[in-house]
Amino acid sequence: MEKIQIDFKKIVEKLDSPVIAADFDNKIVYANTEFCALFNTSSDQITGKVLYDFLPENKTTVLINDYTYKVTKYDDEYFSYYYLSVTDTQMEKIYSDFISTVSHELRTPLTSIRGFADTMLMSFDKLDKAQIQKFLTIIKEQSNRLIKLVENLLSISKIQVQHSNLVFKSVNAKSQIEQVTDILKSQYPTRLFELKCSDNVPNILVDENKFQQIMINLMDNAAKYSYEKGLVSVEISNAKKENFVSIKVKDHGVGIEPENLGRIFEKFKRIENHLTRKTQGSGLGLYIVKDLIEKMGGQIFVESSTELPNSGSVFEILLPVASYTSQSKKKLEDR
Ligand code: ADP
Repeated sequence: MEKIQIDFKKIVEKLDSPVIAADFDNKIVYANTEFCALFNTSSDQITGKVLYDFLPENKTTVLINDYTYKVTKYDDEYFSYYYLSVTDTQMEKIYSDFISTVSHELRTPLTSIRGFADTMLMSFDKLDKAQIQKFLTIIKEQSNRLIKLVENLLSISKIQVQHSNLVFKSVNAKSQIEQVTDILKSQYPTRLFELKCSDNVPNILVDENKFQQIMINLMDNAAKYSYEKGLVSVEISNAKKENFVSIKVKDHGVGIEPENLGRIFEKFKRIENHLTRKTQGSGLGLYIVKDLIEKMGGQIFVESSTELPNSGSVFEILLPVASYTSQSKKKLEDR
């Protein structure tokens, strides 16, 4: 019996949908990660509570965070399991929103690349060096934006089929972040970037490309949701948690309301603020960041406030140090 329950938990944890289990007194005995994320809480905080605090009694649909979920109940000898799935009409809406976001995300940089290339071809002889350099810089920046979008799209399709394909190695976080900072500096010339690294910070055990992708997504957000001359600072240090390195990405931008903090890691989720209306984004970045960090054995935390105009946000990630590699690497590859 014990073995069957452990395997069941493993399967349910891998599901993309929220699942909760309760005993016949309607006390919650288990909630998977998706369910906890939906209610912005942890499994410990849910376990032991009354089911109806989360799912209204005898309802086949429930409205949570603007989405209607269908509730399917399965009973076994000991427990009742509740499986939440987004309803079909809602799924169609998510899908069509996604297509329009992605088309917009692709079209904007492509139009700009084609426009500047056309101008250069048509008036090449009349342009001076400075103009050519300016146009080529825009073409390069817009190409970087496209690469980021395509990488994020590829990542979600990989996440969905559960292929991780991560290649773990010992990586110096500081030198990787320096490279990412250079890319972002040219993309956001009106932001200030700062990198601080404590002494004696060990290498981390990560997939190098995916680590760069994580840092690009976090630092791009920090710059994107900030104002002119806003400071984006990255701090690398030894985490309080033993054998982990902490990397904090801080900004002084619009911030995120407390009630939205749990939702920013959901797929395709963009939270409305006066900058999201203006800025490009697919709502995929943080979903991918969280998934990759967890696959690498790490954690992500966020603190943010909108109380003051420049309160800003701090995203902290913890990643395992490389020195205790052999056992942890084996464990990670088994995932
Ligand atoms: P997007 O492509 O919209 O930036 P993300 O998944 O990276 O998608 O982020 C999801 C949402 O979280 C964003 O739409 C934004 O509302 C919010 N967000 C992420 N990072 C920050 C930040 N540093 N400051 C304020 N809001 C942020």
